[in-house]
Amino acid sequence: MDIQDKNKEELKSELRILLQENNSLRVQKEKREAELIIAYKELHSQNKEKEKRAAELIIANLELKFQSEEKAKRAAELIIANIELVFQNKEKEKRAAELIIANKELVFQNKEKGKRAKELIKAKEKAEESDRLKSAFLANMSHEIRTPMNGILGFTNLLKKPNVSGEKQQQYIKVIERSGVRMLNIINNIISISKIESGAMEVNVAATNINEQIEYIYTFFKPEAEAKGITLSFKNSLPLKEAIVKTDREKLFAILTNLIKNAIKYSERGSIEFGYMLKKDREPFEVEFYIKDTGIGIEKDRQKAIFERFFQADISDKSAFEGAGLGLAISKAYVEKLGGKIWVESEKGKGSIFYFTLPYHVETKAEKESNIDKEESALESSLIKLKILIVEDNEASSWLLDEMMENFVKEVLYAVNGLEAVEICRNHPDIDLIFMDIKMPVMEGYEATRLIRQFNKKTCIIAETACALEGDREKALEAGCNEYLTKPIAENKLFSFIGEHFQ
Ligand code: ADP
Repeated sequence: MDIQDKNKEELKSELRILLQENNSLRVQKEKREAELIIAYKELHSQNKEKEKRAAELIIANLELKFQSEEKAKRAAELIIANIELVFQNKEKEKRAAELIIANKELVFQNKEKGKRAKELIKAKEKAEESDRLKSAFLANMSHEIRTPMNGILGFTNLLKKPNVSGEKQQQYIKVIERSGVRMLNIINNIISISKIESGAMEVNVAATNINEQIEYIYTFFKPEAEAKGITLSFKNSLPLKEAIVKTDREKLFAILTNLIKNAIKYSERGSIEFGYMLKKDREPFEVEFYIKDTGIGIEKDRQKAIFERFFQADISDKSAFEGAGLGLAISKAYVEKLGGKIWVESEKGKGSIFYFTLPYHVETKAEKESNIDKEESALESSLIKLKILIVEDNEASSWLLDEMMENFVKEVLYAVNGLEAVEICRNHPDIDLIFMDIKMPVMEGYEATRLIRQFNKKTCIIAETACALEGDREKALEAGCNEYLTKPIAENKLFSFIGEHFQ
């Protein structure tokens, strides 16, 4: 074998090896390719899975985000709900507290209603009782008014007859006078009681010398008591200087007068003693007045009732004694208004002692001096001279005013009704003072005052009326009057008004 062949063979073997290697490499490559395809597929599938997972994660994430937003919202809602609950709780507590208060109020109102109902029942019973008493009172009153009226009219007729002797005339006039006083007494009592009941009772406190009052009353009633064969006596237990008490002088006078009048009225004989004691064992000190009689006395069970209005100790025995059962009720109201008490100790058939107390208020030095000043200014008032118009349809009343005003008069004009008064006022703008009666024909006093006030604001107008009823004063002042006085006109009241007004 030549070299070429040998090389050829070597080459062939090398080629074969190479082919084999190539074959093995190709097989490996195919295997590798197959593996790659598998790996690729796996990768692809894994990628898809990943993408799916990622998508799922995004969704899960979104869901989570949504859920947490929801949770935050819910939490906020819960906070709000909580706040609302707290608020509602507070409101509930407030409401509960309010309900407790309302409940207490209701309980209180119920109690009040119960009380009110009881009061109403009592008031109704009292009204029925007072209605019954008022009927009895009216029947009694008609007798009380008729009797003195008979006296007045009967004896006035007798006086008109010709040839009545001077002595007889004097006797008739006395009867007329007594009857007039009795009438006035009844009317005053009715007015007093209506003032008390309407709450219009006024108190004028001033220094009052009780010794002087007692002595005056003693002198006043002595003849009446003696005429009945009764001995009247008094005891002033304080020296004059210490007997000055601050109280309502007129009311004290009325109380004492009522009690002494009764003592005389309800005694046939025996004695009446009255006076007072200073009680220093009480705080404040009190003056205890007493009026002791040896008269008919009062049953135990009537001793409280007689102080009620219209009550008399023995209703069946009414005709035996004149009276309306008002005096003690008025006295009791006065005493209580002045800060005291009134009571009676009595035994039927033996006599009675009426007691009443007043606080012992004494006058200070400064008050004494100011009172002296007032009295002096009242005196000065008599220097006042006025042009006066008296508007009165009743001649006697007009005359009476004329007489009373004597010291104050510069000129007097007269009118008999409101219309005339208005005309006179137009023609005499310089009138200082008008006395205006209220009840008059043609035109009554209120209307006339209103008309006068349209063109004259300065003239002083005093309304004077015989029927002093509740609200009359207000009516008069509303119409334009400066003052309101009831008939019979009390001189001291009138003069002190004139003094104050024209000073
Ligand atoms: P009046 O005397 O007008 O009837 P009062 O109110 O003054 O009215 O008195 C009421 C009643 O009290 C009298 O009706 C009388 O029964 C009785 N009374 C008053 N004072 C006395 C007295 N001093 N003695 C006996 N009874 C009296």
